[in-house]
Amino acid sequence: MASTLKAKSLCKLNKEMISKHFDEIAAVTKNSQYVCSKCARSSDGKKWLCKPVSI
Ligand SMILES: [Zn+2]
Repeated sequence: MASTLKAKSLCKLNKEMISKHFDEIAAVTKNSQYVCSKCARSSDGKKWLCKPVSI
């Protein structure tokens, strides 16, 4: 893969970035344990979200 996502970047992704990093996004969201209370995005690690809440 040419580039990788940075910490907290899941919340900041736009459509273009989502399609570009889709495989990586799928990998960190399929076993989601946290949801961002600000952006409603989810991931398996706090580091991807700006306001992570455990679910
Ligand atoms: Zn967020």
